[in-house]
Amino acid sequence: TSPTYQVTDPSTGDVVETFDHATDAEIESALTSAHSAYTAWKDVPIAERAVVVKRVAALFAERADELAAIATTEMGKPASEGVEEAEFCQAIFDYFADEGPTLAADQEIKGITGGRAVVQKLPVGPLLGVMPWNFPFYQIARFAAPNLMLGNTIILKHAESVPRSALAVQKIMDDAGLPKGAYVNMFATFDQVETIIADPRVAGVSLTGSERAGAVVAALAGKNLKKCVLELGGSDPMVVLDTEDLDAVADAAWDYRMYNTGQACNSNKRMIVMDDLFDDFVGKLTDKALALDAFSPLSSRKAAETLHEQVQDAVSKGATLHAGGVLSDGPDAHYTPAVLTGITKDMRAYSEELFGPVAVVYSVGSDDEALELANDTTYGLGGSVFAVDEKRARSLAERLEVGMANVNTTAGEGAEIPFGGVKRSGFGRELGPLGMDEFVNKRMFYIA
Ligand code: NDP
Repeated sequence: TSPTYQVTDPSTGDVVETFDHATDAEIESALTSAHSAYTAWKDVPIAERAVVVKRVAALFAERADELAAIATTEMGKPASEGVEEAEFCQAIFDYFADEGPTLAADQEIKGITGGRAVVQKLPVGPLLGVMPWNFPFYQIARFAAPNLMLGNTIILKHAESVPRSALAVQKIMDDAGLPKGAYVNMFATFDQVETIIADPRVAGVSLTGSERAGAVVAALAGKNLKKCVLELGGSDPMVVLDTEDLDAVADAAWDYRMYNTGQACNSNKRMIVMDDLFDDFVGKLTDKALALDAFSPLSSRKAAETLHEQVQDAVSKGATLHAGGVLSDGPDAHYTPAVLTGITKDMRAYSEELFGPVAVVYSVGSDDEALELANDTTYGLGGSVFAVDEKRARSLAERLEVGMANVNTTAGEGAEIPFGGVKRSGFGRELGPLGMDEFVNKRMFYIA
């Protein structure tokens, strides 16, 4: 079924506001406008594009409280995390504005005889972004910032549950002085997404979201011979081999798993702990879960129900729920943060992504067993390994089948650090130097 762009407060279940879909005429006008903006924007000197992108950065910071409040109403994000997200957007737009001119500069090819060759990085045209609700600002920032710097333009289809976030971003782009058509939000239906991808003026599509949505959009991109970037789910392993400070590792594990109420693609969804630490580790997480007196709702009632079904499936097959795992009666989306162990291969929780506040802990007897379990997933987004001996941790981290491997930290993150996965977590990279390398014509330019 096609989306209904609607604000539903997950803390109450109340429908707050509903928005109409775009008409087909509006989609056509967005395509015309994005294309005509592209023909001008691509020829604006990159230093001038940077000035506008810098203003976008500043507005994210200026409006952080307002943006955070929107996210709280639309998808339940705690206010402090919403402010952090807005500030991260500022850092991303600043990074690409500052570094973009260098990242997009011509690269001289060495060793040519009888001439000179460079690789130029040219924009490719209007792009479609299809974005999810979990970080309603950051997901856009990491796609929009490098592409606006390159000279591409953007049509944005946001998730149906975050229309106010979508409009707040449009307003930031407009108020920053981006030319009309360089960034166009559209409350598009799925048919209209298909129309946009098929349109010859559109050069590519970037999607962040579920495997299901990724497969649909990648098929449309393939059919129309368009480049696509996919940032899909993950079930990232966090391996703990040994430690001199189990409290610190348990704190890191819990905080990272509970961030954004557990709804992050690269959350440490599977904690894999050496058997001599297992009981203490689980005990510490359980204490934290039991000590919580307030927690945020999930993004929607449906999300909470899906998570509950996954946990219930595990419990019915013999898993142990140490704390939490209580679904509210509804229609709100509260679910008490949980600690779950005893997961076996026949349970949904073994192979599916648990997109919410559930700390799953496995026990293993050796480094090799830890590695085998860590890689026994269709996903390949990120992973981390903790050990006192860095060499030991590195040796295991280097064998993780992931796009992002971390040693002695849950995740290295920042505007300058590339992000993306392998296997069914998708392909392509966002952020850092690689984030500016996707929707570009790397034109070879040879002068004899
Ligand atoms: P979706 O993947 O359905 O949503 C992501 C985006 O894709 C939304 O804009 C959505 O639009 C769009 N979309 C979905 N289906 C289509 C389609 N057929 N054609 C065009 N666009 C489409 O995420 P859900 O909200 O359903 O979340 C489900 C699961 O996805 C989560 O439980 C989690 O596992 C994963 N997920 C992962 C994220 C990540 O950061 N990697 C982020 C969000 C979800 P619309 O909202 O209008 O349906």
